[in-house]
Amino acid sequence: MNRSDFPILQEKVYNKPLVYLDNAATTQKPQVVIDALNDYYLRINSNIHRGVHCLSQLATNEFEQAREAVRQYINAGSTQEVIFTRGATESINLVASSFGRTYLHAGDEVIVSEMEHHSNIVPWQLACEERGAKLKVLPFNDNGELRISELDSLITDRTKIVAMAHVSNSLGTVNPITEVIRIAHARNVPVLIDGAQAVAHCPVDVQALDCDFYCFSGHKMYAPMGIGVMYGKERWLNEMRPYQGGGEMIKDVTFEKTTYNDLPFKFEAGTPSVGDVIGLRKAIEYIQDISLEKIAAYEQKLLIYTTEKLAKIDRMRFIGEAAHKTGVISFLVGDIHPYDMGVLLDHQGIAVRTGHHCTQPVMTHFGIPGTIRASFGLYNTFEEADALVEAVVKAKNMLS
Ligand code: PMP
Repeated sequence: MNRSDFPILQEKVYNKPLVYLDNAATTQKPQVVIDALNDYYLRINSNIHRGVHCLSQLATNEFEQAREAVRQYINAGSTQEVIFTRGATESINLVASSFGRTYLHAGDEVIVSEMEHHSNIVPWQLACEERGAKLKVLPFNDNGELRISELDSLITDRTKIVAMAHVSNSLGTVNPITEVIRIAHARNVPVLIDGAQAVAHCPVDVQALDCDFYCFSGHKMYAPMGIGVMYGKERWLNEMRPYQGGGEMIKDVTFEKTTYNDLPFKFEAGTPSVGDVIGLRKAIEYIQDISLEKIAAYEQKLLIYTTEKLAKIDRMRFIGEAAHKTGVISFLVGDIHPYDMGVLLDHQGIAVRTGHHCTQPVMTHFGIPGTIRASFGLYNTFEEADALVEAVVKAKNMLS
């Protein structure tokens, strides 16, 4: 599917065709995104929202059009609810910090799940430490599915927020976030969804979900690195304290008192990464031109095909066998260390990720040091899936 749009896929590693299966870490960029970045720096580079001059106005227009493209992509109610950040990590830190300083008090509770990426654990730990609150954990079962039936009893009168991944980066599990949100809202608890592994793989409608916050990175959805989004309901964003102070986020500054700018600017202190925001818009348009539904259906086929073929390998063990998954396959073969397998796959031109994938509690759950993870993007092929399987067999024979 549209493979030729991605120049890097023509590269060779160790003189072998590159088989790029590390899309959960970051995706490659299509030519149109690279061109958009280039074009920005060639034609209109300037600071936004400030200058009266022509270039500044052109850049500001493009920047705000990108915000509208993001709004539409996730179906936010208003562009005021779309805040640009550096990535999912910064988005979650923003919410943990600002929400924490506004609403968390000693004795309060925050709930995360056992399968969260470290970036949806540590910011909450920091906020809880600072505010004297407690972090509670919703566990998952051995298939890698949330034990959702335990959520309601985990919530108490002191629970201030639930923060959970839409899709797990190490297990591939698609979590039942609609249900998470319904259960939490029934108890008047807001929900943050970490959508880092979802936005490029399944349609997201924040209004239909009714989530309070939705966070993601551009670089995992074919956009440049260094750009991300924090969607938040206006109601919270209006009340929450700013995250960082500086230019752009203020209305008036005196040494006695500062008043803050309106949304979304209140949460966008300093000069943003304008070119990357414009690149993000191009990536969104690129995905929309193909259609996210089509991408999701194609990646499901790849997932099933590859899982079935890998399953035939003797002593293959999958980590994460949820009924509902995206194109992420975490596995181990016998007692081969994931790192050793990863190195041998690399030498055959196959890029996979090995290790704990920033989800150490997931590895602790299974009592393993890490996994080998193959993750698909829209440009991966069935031939590449075959190449992975062949390379795993070859590496296994060498290492056993
Ligand atoms: N959450 C999940 C589920 C992720 O997979 C990642 C990236 N691996 C992040 C958050 C953090 O994203 P970033 O590093 O782009 O900020």
